[in-house]
Amino acid sequence: MYIIMLGAPGTGKGTIGKILSEDMKLTHISTGDIFREQINKKTELGKKIENYIENGLLVPDDVVIETVEARLLEDDVKNGAILDGFPRTVAQAQALKEFLSENNPNQKRIAIELNVPDDEIIKRIVNRVTCSNKECGAIYNLDTRPPKVAGICDICGSELRKRKDDNEETVRKRLEVYHLNSKDLLEFYKNNNALYSICPKQLEEAVKSIKEYLNRRK
Ligand code: AMP
Repeated sequence: MYIIMLGAPGTGKGTIGKILSEDMKLTHISTGDIFREQINKKTELGKKIENYIENGLLVPDDVVIETVEARLLEDDVKNGAILDGFPRTVAQAQALKEFLSENNPNQKRIAIELNVPDDEIIKRIVNRVTCSNKECGAIYNLDTRPPKVAGICDICGSELRKRKDDNEETVRKRLEVYHLNSKDLLEFYKNNNALYSICPKQLEEAVKSIKEYLNRRK
C-alpha cells in the first residue's frame, strides 16, 4: 500500500507518518528530509534547491518528480511506502499515479489529509525542534512536548535542531503556497475515491482513526 500524507506543514504528517511506518512496516519517505540531506551534503541537487526551501517555496515539479521516482525504484519500497510531503501539486500527483500504474499497479494508493487551522500550525512550527540523527528524526514541541533534557533527544541522545525554515515568516509563506495548491490536490484524490480527511486533535486518536480507515480499505 502507498499512503500519501497530505496537509500543510506542521499538521503532523511526519509524526503520524513515522508511527504508521513502524506499525505497518512500510518505509517512510519524506521529500523534505531527502532535500535537507542533499543541502547538508552540498550536492549539485542540494545547491539547486536550497533557495527554494529557505524561502518557503516549492522545489520545481520536474526536480521533485525525478527525485521521488528514483527513490521509489529502490528495493525497500517494493511493497509500498508512506509518502510524506509528496505530492504537493496536481502535476506531481498525476506523475505519481502514472509511475505507480506502470511500476507497481497492484498496490493500493490512499491519501490522508491532516487538517489543522493555520494559527495552530504557526504555534506548532515556531516551537518545533527535530532530532539531528537521521535514523531517529524524532519531533518535539518546546511548548507542548518538550524533551526531558533541553536540546537532547529523549530517544537516541542526539542533538536537537531547529530547521532553518521553521520561523514565522517562512511558515506564513509555506502556508500560502500550501493553500494555493491544496484545493486541486485534494480534489484529485477525492475524484480517485482515495481520500480520508481528519482534523487531528490528539495524536493517538488520529493514528487510531487512520488505521481503522486503512483496514477498511485493505
Ligand atoms: P517539508 O519537510 O515537507 O516541510 O518540506 C520542506 C521544504 O522542501 C518545502 O517547504 C519545499 O520547499 C520542499 N519540498 C518538499 N517536498 C516538496 C514537494 N513535493 N514539492 C515541492 N517542494 C517540496
